[in-house]
Amino acid sequence: MHADDRLAAITTRIAHAAKLARRRASDVTLIAVSKTHGAEAIVPLLEAGQRHFGENRVQEAAAKWPALREQFPDVTLHLIGQLQSNKAADAVALADVIHAVDRPSLVGALGRAMDAQDRRLPCFVQVNIGEEPQKGGCAIDDLPALLAEARQADLPVAGLMCIPPVGVDAAPYFALLAKLAREEGLTGLSMGMSDDFETAVMIGATHVRIGSALFGARTQPEAAA
Ligand SMILES: *Cc1c(COP(=O)(O)O)cnc(C)c1O
Repeated sequence: MHADDRLAAITTRIAHAAKLARRRASDVTLIAVSKTHGAEAIVPLLEAGQRHFGENRVQEAAAKWPALREQFPDVTLHLIGQLQSNKAADAVALADVIHAVDRPSLVGALGRAMDAQDRRLPCFVQVNIGEEPQKGGCAIDDLPALLAEARQADLPVAGLMCIPPVGVDAAPYFALLAKLAREEGLTGLSMGMSDDFETAVMIGATHVRIGSALFGARTQPEAAA
C-alpha cells in the first residue's frame, strides 16, 4: 500500500471511531509520526495533504524539517518525545506544539525560552498514566502542582498526553487521562498510537500520534520515549 492509501485508510478509521462516539472527525487531529523516516517517506504524505507531523528528537527534527518547510510552509510540527531542559530553546525555535512537558525544570526552561523568543507554543503535560517507573510523564499525584507551575510560567497548556503501558488494554488509561483533564478544565487529549487510536478517539482523543500504521515499521532504532 502506498503512503497516501495508508493515510486515507487511517483517516477513514478515525472518522468511523468518531462517528461511533458521536464526535466530529474534524475535532481529532492526526499527527503523522515521522521519526526515523526521511524526506522521501514524508513528502508523499505532504503531497496528499497531511500537515501535522510528529518527531521525538529535536536534533533529528532540526535536520529534516527546515528544508521540508520551505516547500510546505503550513506544516505544524509536534515534538512528542522526552525533552531535555537544555534543548528547550531549540525546541521552541523549531516546533509548533510540545507534547511531553513532565517536570518543573522543563516547565521553567520552556517558559524562559518562550519569553526569550517571544513565541508561545501550546504544550501538553505528559502524565505517567500507568505509574511505570521507567516511563516519562509526571506522576498522577503531582499533576495539579505541575499544571500550576506551567500556568505560572505562562505556558499555554493545551491538554494532557499519555503513553499507556504496553501489552494491556489501553482503554482504562485513556479514560483516566480524560477524567484528569476534565478535573483540571483542560480540553486537549493527546493519546492513541498505531495500535489503539480508534479506542482513543472513542474516549475523547483530540490528537492521535500515528507512526508505523502510516509509514510502515521503523527500521532504525529510536530514542527511548
Ligand atoms: C513513536 C511514537 C508514537 C507513534 O508510535 P506508533 O506505534 O508507531 O504509531 C507516538 N507517540 C510517541 C510519543 C512516540 O514516541
